Amino acid sequence: MTKNYLKLQFYSYPRNQAFARDAVAAFCVELNPSLSDLSDVKTAVSEAVTNCTVHAYRDTAGLVTVECEIEDNKLHIKVSDSGQGIEDVEKAVQPFYTSQPSDERSGMGFTIMQTFMDEFSVNSVKGEGTVVYMSKCFKPEVENA
Ligand code: ATP
Ligand code: MG
Repeated sequence: MTKNYLKLQFYSYPRNQAFARDAVAAFCVELNPSLSDLSDVKTAVSEAVTNCTVHAYRDTAGLVTVECEIEDNKLHIKVSDSGQGIEDVEKAVQPFYTSQPSDERSGMGFTIMQTFMDEFSVNSVKGEGTVVYMSKCFKPEVENA
């Protein structure tokens, strides 16, 4: 069984979003990902980390933790913050729901994570923070005939 683990912690500054996304992508390389799988993971991580910046901590900077675990051909990702939390998670994960329509948010971040990854769940406590869990199975490379 192949196992590997990565933990990143950084401030929720927007400039760290690309860093987090690219670090996770680099960590996945041992799984021989297709470009499409890699792009899905990068997009999902970007959405989760962006939410920490724009919602969890809003005008302040706080710590974001990204943990990844590889187990055989499966990648597990956990993005956690200690920000303001979500009062109604069921409502928040609905397509097009956003608490910040005035900021021209489309309310599609969670839907994108759900669509691009195989597993997705959100745990949040108002006033304490949020944990987003996602996973993706990478298909083994198929040799061209
Ligand atoms: P978009 O992602 O399309 O820019 P959005 O961020 O509003 O818009 P989602 O990412 O789907 O849409 O998030 C839906 C809502 O869930 C947000 O508007 C916000 O209220 C809440 N939310 C999401 N992530 C967090 C978080 N980490 N902390 C607190 N609230 C969050
Ligand atoms: Mg979002």
